[in-house]
Amino acid sequence: MADRNSTAYDPQGVERKWQQRWEERGTNRADLPGAARPFFNLMMFPYPSAEGLHVGNVFAFVGADIQGRYKRLTGHDVFEPLGFDAFGIHSENFALKVGTHPAELIPRNIERFRRQLRRIGLMADWRYEVQTTDPRYYRWTQWLFLQLFRAGLAVKRRAAVNWCPACKTVLANEQVIGGYCERHPDVKVEQRLLDQWFFTITKYAAPLLDNLATADWSHSTKTIQANWIGRSEGAELVFETPGGKRLTVFTTRPDTLFGATYLVLAPEHPLVAGLTTAECRADVNEYRRRVAAMDLVSRKSVEKAKTGVFTGSYARNPATGASVPIWIADYVLMEYGTGAIMAVPGHDERDFEFAAQMKLPVVRVVAGPGQSATTPLAAAEPDIPEGRLVNSPGYDGVPWEEAKRAITAALAAKGLAKPVTNYRLHDWCISRQRYWGPPIPIIYCDDCGTVPVPEQDLPVVLPALEDFRPDDSGVSPLARAESWYRVPCPKCGKLARRETDVSDTFLDSAWYFLRYPSADRDDVPFDAALTRKWLPVASYIGGNEHAVLHLMYARFITMALKDLGHVSFAEPFARFRAHGTIVKDGAKMSKSRGNVVNPDQYVEQWGADTFRMYLMFLGPYQEGGDFRDAGISGIRRFLDKVWALVEAAGTEAQAHGGTGKPSPDLVRMMHRTIQRVTGDTAALDYNTAIAAMMEYVNALRDGTPTRALLEPLAILLAPYAPHFAEECWERLGHATSVMDAAWPGFDPALAVADEVEFVVQVGGKVRGRLTLARGTAEAAAVAAALADPAVARFTGGQAPRKVVFVPDRLVNIVI
Ligand SMILES: [Zn+2]
Ligand SMILES: [Zn+2]
Repeated sequence: MADRNSTAYDPQGVERKWQQRWEERGTNRADLPGAARPFFNLMMFPYPSAEGLHVGNVFAFVGADIQGRYKRLTGHDVFEPLGFDAFGIHSENFALKVGTHPAELIPRNIERFRRQLRRIGLMADWRYEVQTTDPRYYRWTQWLFLQLFRAGLAVKRRAAVNWCPACKTVLANEQVIGGYCERHPDVKVEQRLLDQWFFTITKYAAPLLDNLATADWSHSTKTIQANWIGRSEGAELVFETPGGKRLTVFTTRPDTLFGATYLVLAPEHPLVAGLTTAECRADVNEYRRRVAAMDLVSRKSVEKAKTGVFTGSYARNPATGASVPIWIADYVLMEYGTGAIMAVPGHDERDFEFAAQMKLPVVRVVAGPGQSATTPLAAAEPDIPEGRLVNSPGYDGVPWEEAKRAITAALAAKGLAKPVTNYRLHDWCISRQRYWGPPIPIIYCDDCGTVPVPEQDLPVVLPALEDFRPDDSGVSPLARAESWYRVPCPKCGKLARRETDVSDTFLDSAWYFLRYPSADRDDVPFDAALTRKWLPVASYIGGNEHAVLHLMYARFITMALKDLGHVSFAEPFARFRAHGTIVKDGAKMSKSRGNVVNPDQYVEQWGADTFRMYLMFLGPYQEGGDFRDAGISGIRRFLDKVWALVEAAGTEAQAHGGTGKPSPDLVRMMHRTIQRVTGDTAALDYNTAIAAMMEYVNALRDGTPTRALLEPLAILLAPYAPHFAEECWERLGHATSVMDAAWPGFDPALAVADEVEFVVQVGGKVRGRLTLARGTAEAAAVAAALADPAVARFTGGQAPRKVVFVPDRLVNIVI
């Protein structure tokens, strides 16, 4: 009985066979120059960790792969490239831990990742793989830096930065968790003043925010970005000191100016030294020293107790003319606004707390309905609905929003105010005092100053350093490689010095999608014609943990490249969807809990197709779900059933020399299934698409399976279980790939469920439910309801006095 049709489903054999076929036939290759309907299907390229592919990666990639395959089956030319984001501190720290050079470690990790990614059956076109650590790639990352440098968007400046003494490098604000390093939960982050390269992303704050309004992105991602950019409309107001110094403050509430009872400067504010009186000098200096040792994140924490000291000086409130004291406090930051605020304790929580602690006056200047100028303030009242000004001579009774504009305008006329928009977004510090990154392509010459490396000299290759350990000096390990950093000045030829910082790994990933279509080109970073054809990216799927860094930087770089004439679009990703996260047995996966799912093990045991489908069946893709080992066998049983149906159809076809005529009920069900799977797959509702296919398969098992009923199912399955679908397709008599088939259409008339459920009420209370043909007329529906024993108990056999009838939905009988 060696009949092919009687074999059981063997996932390993099927998957090996089809992966080899895809390879031989070039099934997954996109024709980049010739494509008629390009669809760039992007997924977030992984950081190739030593642990191998994480199940979270698989979840993300399979969900994106389903989109790509679905688009291809609906007639698009889909380009689905992959690559590796292998520079950065994670790789370097791991290399340090295991005592192996990252240049040796990373290729091994990449090799393993590539093998794992192939094994799960992604439709990836590996001809266009990129690796950020390849000089052929980072040559263009350096080129990008030079474009921004020439445009004045890359600047070097001294700045207070978060410094992790364990990582021995600068951390971004979002890497500081409650004052500690995200990688070293027991290491307190310090503040250091260092010369750093910044990209002035803040120049793009307005379009970065405004474009979100029309972006086809997950709502959650847009909200995170909008909050991160943090626009506030307000005014800069001038407070003058008796000595004639002008202190500019930024406020979003100029309407509360009459309640500004003191000023607070950031301890680093340049005017502090000049304003501090002799009596206060010792306290002020001591306080500034203490603040300098704190990290920026804990300074911004709202929970911590307010501290501060008086400078001894006063300034004039431009509205009241009163003299108000000038303090310094760590809750005011140099980076936000002007580094100085007017404190309005009556209507700002932080100011209220501070005033209470320092015994400073609190004045009400806004009153809501039922309040007056003398209503006491037990706490700050920041937002008073329908508030009007009080204790504000000249403006009493004016609604606060109107007063905002009026007060700003009145002071502007005297040169004491100007309306401004402020953002929470900071410039992007791209310097890293580490080894494992692309060297920043800058040379310092004593005579010529800061000189960019000429483009024809790129790449500046990262030298092979034996000792790449960071140290406490705040200087990159490259500063120990004298033979590397000593170079002639490109301008005058005199001996000069290379920049020894490397760039942030987020710069590598801020443009990789532009590189993919041109990954085989060494003459350009990205080919103009291919870029026009394939970008912006049609679909990008990734995690919301990248909502503010990667996704913001990629948008900024694209906008800058557009302004510099290198691309024709400002937004890189036409559609972005955030996927959910999966947990294991109800808990977050972590090494310490020992509940990390190793994808290899599952793929080996169950096959990639079963594993893919199981991951997609855990819950709504955009929300995630709970991974339980017990659930996976249900998917396998489903595939086994399909396998048996395909076998039976083959046997039947052989026996009858053709296809049997399918039953009308099954045909209707097929159209309904196609309709549901089409809508759900397009909307990333993969779990319900799978559920629809399961229902269909159960119905097929009760009838006679025919090719006409099974062929559409094989195509619907192709995005989800691609190897399996190929095998079914072949067994149903096709010689070409199922991926070259056309997605099945459905007849909406047939797809409509022909039975509906009526709710039956008696006197407004639900007493029963009836399944009736769609379109059942009122008389027939009422008759059926009255005949129903559950309903009859409540009508007592009486004729209805009145009936409320909603077609296909409801019969309400009033007795
Ligand atoms: Zn650290
Ligand atoms: Zn020079």
